[in-house]
Amino acid sequence: MIIRRQNAILVPGPRRDVAARLTEWLKFRAHTALSEAVQEHAAALGAKVGRISVRDQKTRWGSCSPDRNISFSWRLIMAPPAILDYVAAHEAAHLLQMNHGPAFWKLVAKRIKNPEQATRWLRENGPELHRYG
Ligand SMILES: [Zn+2]
Repeated sequence: MIIRRQNAILVPGPRRDVAARLTEWLKFRAHTALSEAVQEHAAALGAKVGRISVRDQKTRWGSCSPDRNISFSWRLIMAPPAILDYVAAHEAAHLLQMNHGPAFWKLVAKRIKNPEQATRWLRENGPELHRYG
């Protein structure tokens, strides 16, 4: 069990394997948070989601397959909640538009107030999220 306090994450038990246990916990939390977010965005947009998975993908924060399965980088759990929410909305919009055309961005804008801000944050701070694990 891992305990989260305001400015700390407590990992009880032997010091050995702390990094591995913490990473597992972060992946679990990432899956929960991203599943909730993407389900909410998809429902609001009137789209149906397939399977949701989290992976350690280095090149993309999320991806959506033609059979409606969505996968995310678990590292998004270390980003601010608004950023995680943006990526979830982005992939939910891909359920209806498998491109980055104007119709796609119109769907994203229905769910996220300032998508440019989130994409900028990811461009500037994304590499930092890959330093852990
Ligand atoms: Zn996209």
